[in-house]
Amino acid sequence: SIRQNNATNGGNSPLKLFTHAKITITDIFKNISSYVNDSNIYMTDVIKSDRNLITTDKYKDIQQLKEKVNRILSIISRDHMKVVFFGRTSNGKSTVMNAMLRERILPVGMGHTTNCFLQIEGTDRIEASILIPGSDEPKSVNNLSSISNALSNEKVDSDSLVKILWPKEKCRLIRDDVVLVDSPGIDVSANLDQWIEKYCLDADVFVLVVSAEATITVAEKKFLHNVAQRLSNPNIFILMNRWDATANEPEMVESVKQQHLERGLEFLCDELHLCDRKEATENRMFFISAREALLNRNTDPTTSPRSGYNEGYKERLVEFSKFEHEFEKCISKTAVQTKFEQHTNRGKEIITLLCETIVNMINKSQTIKQECQEKLVEMEEKNIFLEHELRSMTDSAKERIRHVSEDVYKRVAQTLNDE
Ligand code: GDP
Repeated sequence: SIRQNNATNGGNSPLKLFTHAKITITDIFKNISSYVNDSNIYMTDVIKSDRNLITTDKYKDIQQLKEKVNRILSIISRDHMKVVFFGRTSNGKSTVMNAMLRERILPVGMGHTTNCFLQIEGTDRIEASILIPGSDEPKSVNNLSSISNALSNEKVDSDSLVKILWPKEKCRLIRDDVVLVDSPGIDVSANLDQWIEKYCLDADVFVLVVSAEATITVAEKKFLHNVAQRLSNPNIFILMNRWDATANEPEMVESVKQQHLERGLEFLCDELHLCDRKEATENRMFFISAREALLNRNTDPTTSPRSGYNEGYKERLVEFSKFEHEFEKCISKTAVQTKFEQHTNRGKEIITLLCETIVNMINKSQTIKQECQEKLVEMEEKNIFLEHELRSMTDSAKERIRHVSEDVYKRVAQTLNDE
């Protein structure tokens, strides 16, 4: 039943918060785009008339919106959720990531392979490929050993990023727009600031993988302190890995767990002030075995031996699932806020600019209409006056003609009489 719980049942995964939000915001921006296009056509007509309804500057601003909206749409299509894994070499980062991916994608237990940053992201192609820094052409890789070969054949320095483009259709996490970054083993000499600057500023979640046989090191703490300085309130998970090792000393489990928990809480709550102790205990620290989780999830019979679980593994598998659930909730919520909030604000600005411009034009055209109406009334009044003038003029002219003709008649009669 544990296997069933872990099955790739992504339908109601918390990650959907992000994927649905992405679909919604894409639709909204497509609507904005068609509104902007309509407005552009309309305003091109308006600017041709000599009414001065819109200034040339405003007209240019509006014409540029089309490109802006398209740019935002393309950024949205590339927006994703990003998680960075870090910790000392061999603590089990690659194994944790493979367990979450439900497949052995990353080479495990080969120190040299994770000497650089490794990013796993989705591709629509059906074939996996690998992109080495300095080359634009991804190289096809069809299995794990070719990934290892591709990595070991290339000289990549520790601050560079190798991308593994993994077919979306093969993995739910990747299909749902999660990008996973594996970092080189952290040690005191690592250039942590540069790492953060280059690869972590847009990360939504950080996962520290610690070996339960050791403790959190100074370098790991320093990294998180630097992260917390650059990013406000980073989301940090601590995985106490290799918890299966405790199966050998069952009488020690509880006390060792309490010690780890106490140190983890001191760090997350008292030093970094990221959350309260209850929240950290329930949702931020997990005691897991990545090795067992990977065994349990990787259903490929050719790569997954059927044995290898230690005593008490069921509890650790449940704990791993709990971690995944909390992780998915946390990463999707954060990514929606950090990535889509700025798009929402830009969308509002665009709509406001369009509305204001159109209202302004309506107001101007109404003023013009009113002026025309006033002119019309004035002209009508003038017309009436002139008509009246004309009529009275004609009346007086008629009168005069009558007078003149009477006068002429009289004079003619007079003359006739005289004669
Ligand atoms: P990374 O260097 O942090 O990426 O560590 P890897 O994932 O490569 O793991 C180093 C070695 O530890 C590999 O041989 C793994 O099989 C082993 N390993 C990883 N996780 C566990 C675990 O939970 N329990 C045990 N017993 N071994 C583990």
